[in-house]
Amino acid sequence: MQEEAIGNNIIMNEKHLDDLVSYLKFPSVSTDSHYKENVRGCAEWLSSKIDEVGLEASIHETPGHPIVIGKNKHSEDKPTVMIYGHYDVQPADPIDLWDSPPFEPLIKDGKIYARGSTDNKGQHLAHLLGLGETLNENGDLPVNIIYLVEGEEEIGSPNLEPFLIENKEDLDCDVIAVSDTGMIGPGMGTFTYGLRGVACMEVKVIGPSKDLHSGVFGGAVANPCNAISKMISSLHDLDGRIKVDGFYDRVKEIEDWEKTAWSKIELNENETLDLTGAPELFGETGFSDNERRWSRPTAEVNGIGGGYQGEGSKTVIASESFVKLSFRLVPEQDPEEILNLVRYHFEQCKPKGVRVEYEMGHSGKAYLMDPQSGYGLAAQRALRNTFDSDPALIREGGSIPIVQSFKDVLNVDTLLLGLALPDCQIHSPNENFSIENFYDGIRLNRNLINEIGMIH
Ligand SMILES: [Zn+2]
Repeated sequence: MQEEAIGNNIIMNEKHLDDLVSYLKFPSVSTDSHYKENVRGCAEWLSSKIDEVGLEASIHETPGHPIVIGKNKHSEDKPTVMIYGHYDVQPADPIDLWDSPPFEPLIKDGKIYARGSTDNKGQHLAHLLGLGETLNENGDLPVNIIYLVEGEEEIGSPNLEPFLIENKEDLDCDVIAVSDTGMIGPGMGTFTYGLRGVACMEVKVIGPSKDLHSGVFGGAVANPCNAISKMISSLHDLDGRIKVDGFYDRVKEIEDWEKTAWSKIELNENETLDLTGAPELFGETGFSDNERRWSRPTAEVNGIGGGYQGEGSKTVIASESFVKLSFRLVPEQDPEEILNLVRYHFEQCKPKGVRVEYEMGHSGKAYLMDPQSGYGLAAQRALRNTFDSDPALIREGGSIPIVQSFKDVLNVDTLLLGLALPDCQIHSPNENFSIENFYDGIRLNRNLINEIGMIH
């Protein structure tokens, strides 16, 4: 009896894994037009898989790559859950560094190796197969489902927000679930309830109209490289705190329960040093590593240039210099306001004798939801049932702009229930997805829609 059950299980499981292998064979690289037909082929494969599991699929054209949607028959007395994913992948380059071909999935040591395995095909296919299992067993789902998978996430989702706006009524939902973030470790269910925002700017400092001889003119005209160094050094004090007036005014303080929860999952210092290769840790005084990365804003120089960069010395005063800056923002900070504060700060401290130009780059607000809300608690229960332990409640330091689009356009929270392990190598050679996580993802979907169905 038991043997038979296990036998069935394995047969069923193998079919799921076969599906994943088929899906990963498409080189659905969105950024490179050579792959346009492969991207479409991938969307069509997904669409037929959606039909096969018992949802109704549709392919929606956009000015770029299509969006694929699957729905069950909706009824008014059920909550509506959108599950989001992306079927496009990063380019596989550099191909030489892969141990096996990126679009010929290889199963080895409990992992499947292929471009797109973790980011994001494995994760959202798990959700689809979970829905298929529930439909197969019960003939119905406890929730209304909008399973939406786009093909342009890796190029910044240029057509997703317009699509959301245009189809706002059809996409009306109560909550969104996304598996495209990380887990703190194998078997450790992780609920990400906050993300940092970002704001970028480039500053150019302009001095003489051409590079000058530093002997003939040095001391008599201002040097743009010296000037920009002075401006950059005015951003922080020695304790790592940002000195721009008003920068911290709106920062939402870290709650006590967060401090406690995060202290339990703090990497030890040596692990962080190992991971980063940095000679020493440094950050704003008075905060732990997780607090600094997840809930404190930063000001970073991402690139800096000006003057002679070649071999040997060249005695020159460059005509201009530049710096590329980005600011990671936390809840309640406004990107536009922050960029204006920084600009004002630079205007006050710029040295004499130079002209300064500013170019504002892309920006996005931070995201925060209450993990103790009704849907938040449902997600926590689903994670607990799936992984047999209390989920880790974390924020992440990066930004996921679509989460903000969902909030802005559809006015709903996003449950970020990631299945990516720290060593999954997304965007790098040898990307892989743990097969255990694939099956856990299927169970997570089943638990999640059950839990959400029950709170209504
Ligand atoms: Zn990605």
